[in-house]
Amino acid sequence: MVIHEYAGVVTELPDKDCPHCGKTLDAWLAPPETGWGVILICNNNNCPHYLGSEGDIMHKRDDSHLGCRYAEDPANGFKPVNVLAVCPH
Ligand SMILES: [Zn+2]
Repeated sequence: MVIHEYAGVVTELPDKDCPHCGKTLDAWLAPPETGWGVILICNNNNCPHYLGSEGDIMHKRDDSHLGCRYAEDPANGFKPVNVLAVCPH
């Protein structure tokens, strides 16, 4: 069970493992513009999904080092989503 609390709102989510690296997903409050609310995200910087995504993003600037973290949206049947993040390398 993952418990996320923000502004007095407690969200309880089941434990889920990243299918790419096996790490337990962390609860994370997505930015309001995404419309996701609290989602489960893989924060592993060595996750193969994250590392492999850097070259897959279309139209990104060459020096931006953006990658996609694996995440699931509990409000949408744990549908997998990609969260844009800055790659550490
Ligand atoms: Zn992962």
